[in-house]
Amino acid sequence: MADSLSEDDILEAVARHIGRPGQGPQLRRTGVDITRLPMLDLRIVRCVETRGTRQETRPGKYDISGRPTYEGELRDHPVQPPKDPAESRKVELVLHGSVRTVACGCDEGRQPCSRCRAKGKLPCETGPLCPACKGVEPCTWCDGTGERQDRAPAGPSGEKNSPGRTTCLKCRRPRTACPQCRGWGTEKCTRCDDTGFRVCPVCAGERSTEHTSCDGTGLVTLWTGGSVAHAPERSAVKLPDPAPPLRVRQRTGRTGAWERVTLTSVGEPVPDALDPAHVEAVEKALLPRPDEVARRADIGWLHLVAVAIPDDPDHVFYVFPGSDGPEVLPIWSRRRSLRIAAVVAGVVVLVLLVAALV
Ligand SMILES: [Zn+2]
Ligand SMILES: [Zn+2]
Ligand SMILES: [Zn+2]
Ligand SMILES: [Zn+2]
Ligand SMILES: [Zn+2]
Repeated sequence: MADSLSEDDILEAVARHIGRPGQGPQLRRTGVDITRLPMLDLRIVRCVETRGTRQETRPGKYDISGRPTYEGELRDHPVQPPKDPAESRKVELVLHGSVRTVACGCDEGRQPCSRCRAKGKLPCETGPLCPACKGVEPCTWCDGTGERQDRAPAGPSGEKNSPGRTTCLKCRRPRTACPQCRGWGTEKCTRCDDTGFRVCPVCAGERSTEHTSCDGTGLVTLWTGGSVAHAPERSAVKLPDPAPPLRVRQRTGRTGAWERVTLTSVGEPVPDALDPAHVEAVEKALLPRPDEVARRADIGWLHLVAVAIPDDPDHVFYVFPGSDGPEVLPIWSRRRSLRIAAVVAGVVVLVLLVAALV
């Protein structure tokens, strides 16, 4: 495993990269600048526990003998967290001796029908007005009442017997009623047969329905339930901040010889080999959280340096330990990037000028 690179190793690696093998020491004399940018990749997954009790109810005689029990206070009951802290799990428990099956309090499993207010029937509309006579004068003799109406004759149509009229179903007079409704004045309501009431569709006329809370058994089972849940909580720290250029992060992620340590308990010391610049951040990230019962912290670090050499001001050379010794990745320097940006801006101005002249 490659450890921190010495300054000689770094300079020699850069010298070899720019085609001057063996000239590391000469490079130093030209006045190189070496900036340390140690990288850290810390990922923590904590197993966080939550506990709670609540009163539970199930309809009828409910069998919960298969569930594990606890005694006394739930917080004192030991429950192993999952082996892998990244796993979620929930354990449902029953307070020992709390299970009871009692009468529901309803009427032997039934409750008054709320739809019809225990009447068994619902009021209903009578049928719509007769489309032929519109409910006006359905019978010239009884006017749909079955009895002679004492009123002034209504002109010629008030005649006793008119052609086209039929026998009235209410007063039984011939040729007095509207042929369509036959003296009724309305069409018959198909739901209630014009009685004004229909059977309640919820209780089917029984006035009561099955009580849902007890499934119609008249009994309920009660107990005190306790649940212990374990869920993962993840966090991460990446240094340095600001991060090195994307290409450097990609390359170091692929081929860097990262050193790695996994910690599995609170209070485990941070590894000695960790860069001193990272110790504080790592220790802070590893502090225990409330309700944390297990953890896994994967710590990885890599010694990265940025080298600037006066002979090549257009590049910054990133050097880090790889699997076969130091690796060098040249990236355009800020100076070079700014110069290119200036050139691009110049070209744009030129194009605009030309466009303006044309
Ligand atoms: Zn009539
Ligand atoms: Zn009619
Ligand atoms: Zn009706
Ligand atoms: Zn009903
Ligand atoms: Zn009930």
